[in-house]
Amino acid sequence: MQPFSNTSLTSRSLAKLARKSAQANALPMGRTTAPGTSADALIAALQPSVPTYIMRYNEAARAAAAFQQQFDGTVLYAVKVNPGRKMLQTLVRSGVRHFDVASLDEAKLVRRLAPKANLFFMHPVISAATAAEAYSKYAVRTFAIDCAASLAKIQAASGNAGDVSLFVRLALPHASKSMIDLSRKFGADFDEAVALLKAARPAAQRLGVTFHVGSQCMDTAAYREAISYAASVIRTSGVVVDAIDIGGGFPVTYPGMTPPPLGAFMQVINNAFIENGLMGLERFCEPGRALVASAASLVVQVDLRKNDVLYINDGTYGGLFDAGKSVQFRYPCRVIRSDGSAVSKELQAFRFAGPTCDSLDMMDGPFYLPVDVRDGDYIEISQMGAYSESLRTGFNGYKDYLTVELIEGNC
Ligand SMILES: *Cc1c(COP(=O)(O)O)cnc(C)c1O
Repeated sequence: MQPFSNTSLTSRSLAKLARKSAQANALPMGRTTAPGTSADALIAALQPSVPTYIMRYNEAARAAAAFQQQFDGTVLYAVKVNPGRKMLQTLVRSGVRHFDVASLDEAKLVRRLAPKANLFFMHPVISAATAAEAYSKYAVRTFAIDCAASLAKIQAASGNAGDVSLFVRLALPHASKSMIDLSRKFGADFDEAVALLKAARPAAQRLGVTFHVGSQCMDTAAYREAISYAASVIRTSGVVVDAIDIGGGFPVTYPGMTPPPLGAFMQVINNAFIENGLMGLERFCEPGRALVASAASLVVQVDLRKNDVLYINDGTYGGLFDAGKSVQFRYPCRVIRSDGSAVSKELQAFRFAGPTCDSLDMMDGPFYLPVDVRDGDYIEISQMGAYSESLRTGFNGYKDYLTVELIEGNC
């Protein structure tokens, strides 16, 4: 593993850099502040004209440690949620050794940063060429499958060496209890899964089943139902199954969305394994959001206020896809006024409009901010470590953004 860059930027050196470059985006990416710097001081010094991520990697380390402590099995990190180099390094340093990848680029990235990592290729739709390269170039030995064709491609890729682990991805029959359904597109139905388990058994060193209850799952019962469903698929197949991977979906708190605590999910999951006679199986899960959401905030600037609409310099084509029409998440928000002057304590509901010309680039929130928020103000949007930076596009010329690391605490 490469050592982290220890480059430190104090508020003063940040201000100097900001002055030197008319454009904030000329600043080096990923610079680190001195301990004790606050987000307010950082923004006051930087005065960024482009969306700016404030990274708090300690938060990811804390979340990863807590998650691994509470889950009775092996934790894989779902790389797509935030594939940032230092994020991955932070998770490796926190003990994460297994990664859920879904593309060759993700496999390559993790392999480079953590040469000994265990890569699970959990995308059940795979081309023959991708299977071959994942197996031979990136030493992937674990794959998800949801049909006989994928099984055949993986067997061919391994030269029938019999050294692969195979997880049959189940389509869940229950209505999703999650904010984002991940079961409509992939997965074998009951009968297909039974047939696939039988067909895969002779080819697999380790055979498992896997599912995903959907992202930001708000109800512990979703895992209970899914585990019980998986158990009945296994029983019906009559073959020996070695492992269950219960996927991701573990929630975090957003305004208006307070899920049960992680411990409640773990208890329900443990009980479901006991009730369904699955205690002998190896257990995996694939959290993404729960490990990294709190590790970043996104600071945007108000270009224009029009009544209750704030036109900001980032939107659904940038880091705020999940605030848009398809998911409509709300996020914790606060104003940072760059001249340090006070804002009203009285809050009001606002909508956001993104910078592109597309009318879909609207975020209805509501986002609660001081009644006197005005042009030029910065807004710090929290819980942006998951599904934000990884979803950015450069649409309409709004591609530039900054990433700065903040080390909070005393100094
Ligand atoms: C996206 C994804 C995850 C991560 O889901 P979260 O809801 O962020 O925990 C895990 N597994 C698979 C297969 C995924 O597609």
